[in-house]
This record gives sequence, C-alpha cells and structure tokens, in this order.
Amino acid sequence: MGLPLIELQDIRKSYGPAAGDSAEGAESPPPAMVLRGISLKLFAGEFVAIVGASGSGKSTLMHILGCLDRPSSGRYLFEGEDVAGFDADALAWLRREAFGFVFQGYHLVPTESARENVEIPALYAGMPEAERRVRATALLERLAMGARLDHRPHQLSGGQQQRVAIARALMNGGRIILADEPTGALDSQSGAEVMKLLNELADAGHTVILITHDRNVAAQARRVIEIRDGQIVADSGGARPAISACPAAPAASRRNASHAPQASLAADLHEAARAAWRVMWSNRFRTGLTLLGIVIGVASVIAMLAVGSGSQQQVMAQFETFGVRTMFVAAREGSVRTPGAPLTLADVETVRGLANVEAVAPYIEDRVVVRRGNVDHAAEGGGTTVGFAHVLGWGVSEGLMFDEADEQRVAKVAVIGQTVRRALFADGTDPIGQDVLIDKVPFQVVGVLAAKGTSDGEDQDDRVVVPFSAAAARLFGHQNPTWIGVQVRDMEQATETAEAIETELAARRRVRDVRVWNRVEAIRVQSATARAMTMMLGLIAAISLVVGGIGVMNVMLMTVRERTREVGIRMATGARQTDILRQFMTEAVLVTSVGGTVGVAVGLLIVAALMLADVPVVFSLLASIGAFGCAVLTGLVFGFMPARNAARLDPVVALASQ
Ligand code: ADP
Ligand code: MG
Repeated sequence: MGLPLIELQDIRKSYGPAAGDSAEGAESPPPAMVLRGISLKLFAGEFVAIVGASGSGKSTLMHILGCLDRPSSGRYLFEGEDVAGFDADALAWLRREAFGFVFQGYHLVPTESARENVEIPALYAGMPEAERRVRATALLERLAMGARLDHRPHQLSGGQQQRVAIARALMNGGRIILADEPTGALDSQSGAEVMKLLNELADAGHTVILITHDRNVAAQARRVIEIRDGQIVADSGGARPAISACPAAPAASRRNASHAPQASLAADLHEAARAAWRVMWSNRFRTGLTLLGIVIGVASVIAMLAVGSGSQQQVMAQFETFGVRTMFVAAREGSVRTPGAPLTLADVETVRGLANVEAVAPYIEDRVVVRRGNVDHAAEGGGTTVGFAHVLGWGVSEGLMFDEADEQRVAKVAVIGQTVRRALFADGTDPIGQDVLIDKVPFQVVGVLAAKGTSDGEDQDDRVVVPFSAAAARLFGHQNPTWIGVQVRDMEQATETAEAIETELAARRRVRDVRVWNRVEAIRVQSATARAMTMMLGLIAAISLVVGGIGVMNVMLMTVRERTREVGIRMATGARQTDILRQFMTEAVLVTSVGGTVGVAVGLLIVAALMLADVPVVFSLLASIGAFGCAVLTGLVFGFMPARNAARLDPVVALASQ
C-alpha cells in the first residue's frame, strides 16, 4: 500500500527569458525560478491544502500536478509511472479520467449552459449522450443547482458557477480534485459552501488538493503543506498511507490511454456541429457577414457560368443552322469594267478536289411560283445535288430526299420546305406523292425538308428543291450554280482552304472574281471568344469564392483568438488535440456549408430571373454541385490553419488568456 498516487521528485520550474514581461523594469531578467526543488508524495484519498503567499508558486505547482504544464526538471510519477513519457493524448487522457479542476475564475465555457458545461469532460471520454445528460443533471441536482440546468454562466452567481465547475470536475469520476483558490472570488458564505462541498468529497473518498493563500481555509484540510518562494517549508502530514480508496476509479488503464473509449464518429460530429451552431448563432452578425462572402461567391459561380455558357450556346446556335463546318463560294457580281462570269460545274469539281474539302454541293437558285390546284405560292426555287443534305446538314423530316438516280435521269421530283407545305397543303393532305407545278412544270413531291426557321433575315423554309439536272434543264435553262456549299474537314484549316479555293478558281478562270464566305473561321473565332468569356466569368466567380474563403479564415482566426481560454478549458477537461481540431474545423465547414446552400439558392434565383428576362442562360447542375463543393472545401482549407493553431495551444497558456 506504499505506492503514492502522485510523487514529485525535485520538481523545478522556471519561466524562460522569453517571458520577460513578468519582470518589467529589470534590464536583463534572469530566468525566474518559480519552483525550486519540490519533492512531495500524495496518497489516494488525502485532503491536502497547499498554502502560501501570493506569488509563491502555488498555481504553477498545481498546473504541473494536473499535467497542464510540464516541469523544467525533476520527475513526476503518477501511480509510479513517469509522466514525462506521456504524449499529448495520454496527458489528455489523464486530465480527463483522473483529474477534475476547479479554478478561482470558474473557467466555464460561456456559450454553453450549466448542464452542457458539466457534460464536457464526458463528451471527450466518449460517454453516450443520454447517459451524459442524466449524470450531469444528477450531479447538478446534488449540488443544489437542479433549477439552473439551462442557465448560461453569465446568468449565474459566482457561487453557482463554482458549483457548476465542481460538478464538471466530478463528471468523469473526479478521482483527484485540483482546486486553485476555489473560494478566492466568492463572498464568505458562498466560499463556506464550496469548502463544505470539498470536505464532503474528501469524506466520500476523493483525493482533494486545495490551493489557497488563506490559512483559515487551509486549516480545514487534513494535511497542510506550506510553500514559500517555490519551496516546501512545512508539511503537517508527511507520507501517510491512504485510508480509503477512491469510489469512482476509472475502468480504463493508462495502457489504452491513446485510444480511450470513444463515442462514434457520427455522435462526435453531431456534438461538434451542435456546439458550432451555438457559437455561430451567438455571433450572428459576424457569421452573417462571413456567410455573405461565401454566398456571393457560390451564387456568382452559378450565375456567371450559366450566363457564359448561355451566350456560348447562343453563338453556336446562330451558326448551327447550316453546320459549323460549312462555307459558301459565290461569284462576284460583274460590273461594267469587269464583267463577272458565273460559276460552272467545272469550278465545282475544282473545289471538290482541294485538300480539306470533305463534300461540296452546287446550288442553283431563282424565284419560282409553285402551284397546287388553284393556290399559287412564290418561293425560292433551288436545284442541287445529293451532297446538299450532307453539306448543309439539312435532311427531310418526311418522305425521301431525291437520290443519284433522280439526278441521272433528270427526274421531276421535288422536296418542299415547311412554309411551302403550309401554303399549299393547308387542307391537310399528305404532300408526299402529290403533284405540284413549279413555274408550270409538273413535279412530284417526294419529301418535306426539316424546319430551319429564319436565318440571315430570310425564311429558309420557304423553298422547293429539285435535282440539279432537273433545275438546269427544266426550270432555269442554264447550269451555272449560284453558289457552292463546301464542307471542310478541319475547322482550324478553314482560312487556308478558303484561300486555296479562291486561288485555284482564279487560276482556272483567269480572273479573281470568286468570293468565299468563310463563316467557318468566324464561327471558330466566335466560339473561342465565347469559351474564353465563360472561362473568364468562371475565374471571376472563383476569385470571389476565394475571397469568401479568406473571410472564413479571418473569422476563424478571430474566433480562435477570442476563444483561446475556452480551448484551454476544454483541454483541462480532457480534450485531445484532435477534438479541438475537429471542433474548429466543424465550425468552419458549417459556416461554409450554410453559405454554400444559401449561395446555391441565390444562384438559382438569379438564373431563374435571367431566364424570365429572356437572357440566354444554360443552368448547369454540375456547376452548382461544384460551387457548393468548392465552398465546403474552402471551409476545410481555410479553416484548417486556425483550427490547427487552436489544437496546438499549450493548455496553461490557453487557460491564462483573457
Ligand atoms: P501563486 O499561484 O502562488 O500566486 P504563481 O504560481 O501563479 O503563484 O506564480 C509564481 C511566480 O511565477 C510569480 O512570480 C509569477 O509572476 C511567475 N509566473 C507565473 N506564471 C508565469 C509565466 N507564465 N511566465 C512568467 N512568470 C510566471
Ligand atoms: Mg495562484
């Protein structure tokens, strides 16, 4: 039974020259030696008072006893084991399972209720929520605080806050209660009540270490150790073996210190999210401003990408009527000095033979009158080859296109546009197989062209198209194409191809009078511009998201600084570094997810409003999900540094902060 619970061997503690602020006035402050060789044995079940004048080193000693701080030299044995070998998690375990702290300044978390404050140590010990709640309530009721479970610390008197702190110290068993001037800030009556409680705890078998400057208070303990200038000058008890064992020895042993029982990750996250929400809510205005940054970022990503791809699509739609790889060749109008010569079929063959030309379609056109029964309709008449459908991307929606055989036998067949069909077949007759007169020549309708709508200010559907040979022989009396449609293979080479066409035809015709309308190059340039525009809008939006992220980081850094003491309190009650990291990361991610959600909603509203205003927009679900994901990622990335700063805080330093 000789093994002390805690044994200190020649413990020394000095604050390095870095802490020169405590020795202002001195030119070169020597390292202040605060504890100068403390050797001490404390046994389970003892009620010890450590008494000394202010500045004698009592609090420093308590921080070392409670593993909130490490000594500069000397050995600290906890149940015979040297604490120097413990890592941060094992020390957190010790604070969580073995110690319960009661401070002069209470050190409650201001945003949490009395009951929630009491629950904190159990939270880090992984006790299930329901059990935690029952135990915290029972402890507070035992300390006559049952009526104030949901009060926040600022709604409680000093004596009440100290009772909450005592309940918190007992939450995980409180084998060793470390009380640093617990009555220091209290009126005499509340102080007496707190002392009575400590006495009762000592009676119940808890080891109580009371630190005080007041000899009368110290006198209530069963062993009094006096300390002066960092040295023990008197000890009333000496090495007395313990009589009673602690009633609530924790089941876990130090062996599994680093993997102490843990609640499930989901429960942990739930708890972290709840606490984070509480903090966000208590800083509504600031959180709202931060959120605004994220909301604007996400909403602008969604809206700008929608507008960008909307205009891109509109540009493409303008050209897609006749295929994006199609250009047109026509002869220049002749003048008095340079009489123009029309295109010929030989020109068509020349063009067909050029590199990068995939297909050609000569088109001969003039105004015609189409008649069915007693209805006359003026339309564009055209003659072309079977290449037409391919080159212009223009097929039939009903019936058939005329074919090579029709071309060979100069067949009197026609395909009609939608407008012509409406004009002549208003009675609902199926046009396929019907006869019409084109400029008084009978043709049989074999197909109806797909609708193209209006392009270049002309109704493209107001036309009849017949085989080139038939148009030449039976309608127009010549075979000079009005224009040639050329489909190129590679859009990038369009300019070269256009030049080659002009050069080759000039060589053949001995006069440079053929013009190529190179819309392919225009399309390529325009769509590249539209794409660049979309990218630029996206970039601007992404930048605003990054700016929002920096706002999050700023607020998180501020939060961590403001709540340094809270971090210290949580560490003193046994939080691991990962617990702190997780808590602050959760806060950052919660802010950004809420911001992301609102941002997506605002973005959708903007897109909807633009749609109503007839602005071409293309809504992208992927962009929305991406923007939301980026927002959350922003929280993770920009929240990490502040959260890690918080997790790396030294418990004593954090506790000492204001
Ligand atoms: P007590 O609790 O007995 O009043 P403390 O242990 O708080 O005394 O402090 C003992 C001495 O150590 C004091 O002179 C104090 O100025 C000094 N001290 C305490 N903490 C620090 C610190 N973090 N840095 C430098 N000096 C410190
Ligand atoms: Mg002190």
